[in-house]
Amino acid sequence: CGIVGYVGHREAYPVIIKGLKRLEYRGYDSAGVVLWDGEDLKLSKTKGKVTDLEARVAAEITTTGTIGMGHTRWATHGVPNDVNSHPHVSNSGDLVIIHNGIIENYEPLKKELINRGYVFKSDTDTEVLVNLIEDVQKQENLKLGKAVQKALNQVVGAYAIAVFDKKKPNEIVVARLGSPLAVGIGEDEYFIASDASPFIEYTSNAIYLEDEEMAIIRLDKPMKVRKIKDDSLVDPYIQELQM
Ligand code: GLU
Repeated sequence: CGIVGYVGHREAYPVIIKGLKRLEYRGYDSAGVVLWDGEDLKLSKTKGKVTDLEARVAAEITTTGTIGMGHTRWATHGVPNDVNSHPHVSNSGDLVIIHNGIIENYEPLKKELINRGYVFKSDTDTEVLVNLIEDVQKQENLKLGKAVQKALNQVVGAYAIAVFDKKKPNEIVVARLGSPLAVGIGEDEYFIASDASPFIEYTSNAIYLEDEEMAIIRLDKPMKVRKIKDDSLVDPYIQELQM
């Protein structure tokens, strides 16, 4: 399973698809991608291989863009099929998430959300998390980063996630607990990936998030890394990768 994301000035899709292929060694049963074309989310996902995803994207997505995220899934909750593939979108249609790992307490969280009127399309734990983030965001009128943080503090499990809010494009929120997540730092561009292999050709500077850390990635501000639990700022170690 794997995660790739891009925010910058390049076409995001080729970076993402090449990155997903580099992460294939990690194993997966489905793949998906979401792109922000400047106006709307463009999403394609499928059971099968990254090459199957490429065929889908060719048929389904006409306008691309310079922001996007891709995912390879190793199913833990819900069979491998198109609907259970990532990315998953929240009920409002605004938030989109990719996730590697397991939300162990997804059942009580899902019940609570259903009681509050949320509807679920997939059988995944991940769709619960994206709607939990939305619910927290709406109830308390929070910025995306804060909503992700509050939601994660209710979660038991393991995750590497990347979350995008189409009301606030140019920003991707990432977090990690138990599943790897690296951020490649280029010039006016950022790469997100499960390991450095998807972005090593573009930049030699990377931050590996530690467990219980999150970061808000946006082009107009330096990246900040925080502890999910107590919100304290972390001074991240920037690694020099060997090209
Ligand atoms: N638990 C999630 C699912 O089953 C993510 C699996 C993964 O790590 O790819 O969809």
